[in-house]
Amino acid sequence: MDDAIAQMQTLIGALPYLKRYDDQIVVVKYGGHAMGEEETALRFGRDIALLEQVGVNPVVVHGGGPQINAMLARLGVQSTFVQGLRVTDQQMVEVVEMVLCGTVNKQVAESITRAGALAVGISGKDGGLITARKATRTVKDPGSNIEQVLDLGLVGEPESVDTRVLQLLIGADIVPVIAPVGVGRDGQTYNINADTVSGAVAGALAAERMLMLTDVPGVLDANKKFIPEMTVAEARAGIAAGWIAGGMIPKVETCIYAIERGVKGAVILDGRVPHAVLRELFTDGGAGTLIKP
Ligand code: ADP
Ligand code: MG
Repeated sequence: MDDAIAQMQTLIGALPYLKRYDDQIVVVKYGGHAMGEEETALRFGRDIALLEQVGVNPVVVHGGGPQINAMLARLGVQSTFVQGLRVTDQQMVEVVEMVLCGTVNKQVAESITRAGALAVGISGKDGGLITARKATRTVKDPGSNIEQVLDLGLVGEPESVDTRVLQLLIGADIVPVIAPVGVGRDGQTYNINADTVSGAVAGALAAERMLMLTDVPGVLDANKKFIPEMTVAEARAGIAAGWIAGGMIPKVETCIYAIERGVKGAVILDGRVPHAVLRELFTDGGAGTLIKP
């Protein structure tokens, strides 16, 4: 009996949040590092299926860096690096597409479908979803402070997003699962950072929220202490100062981008924590670092 009451109280407690997100689009970025284990993947699938069931419109964008690295190693594909960043050549982009749009995309869609919602996996190439252009990347030489342009090969960034295929799926109560690969105007395939894709998609759909699941509790400060909330200005300062680094840079930049395009809140949170998505959306406490204007 006590259990039943507790369960009802949980449902009642979620009511204001259910109303708030009813029929709203929530974009969820599922990081390659947060999706390693089978149990984590199934739990993620159940969370997304529950969102769909209670009337939220989730849109999932996934990464897959670790899975790509494993396949490159298996195939014995050699990598070249500039300033520690991997260059993507034609052979590598073929492996990227095979892993992201094949294995990983289907796994994510299946884990949601198995949990009882319908999910369909697509890449940025399907339905003209993402037109990409070559990304340019600059680094400052620490000695001279001179900006240097790096050529990372077939790494792209979204130039435009055509949301028609997403609107069709959302309208039919199907959860779109997006692999971060895009195509240039000339037909060239580009590998795009999944964080960047989720920001572009959230912006184009005017999403209510964007959640970025990763393998750390959120943004950590210079002393590795968790930051519950930060402003766009503070986030920019962290990147400039260097304590926001590596894979956290595209995440934070994407949150800033999404907020500037009207997304109401962008959160970076730990996808390994059970039910991170539901806790963030349906409880008072929230779960990760909220970036706000
Ligand atoms: P994902 O697969 O989720 O995109 P990434 O490895 O690309 O994961 O990015 C997350 C990583 O960013 C963390 O595991 C951490 O090593 C690194 N990182 C760099 N700076 C920070 C910071 N200030 N706070 C948290 N993580 C950081
Ligand atoms: Mg990353």
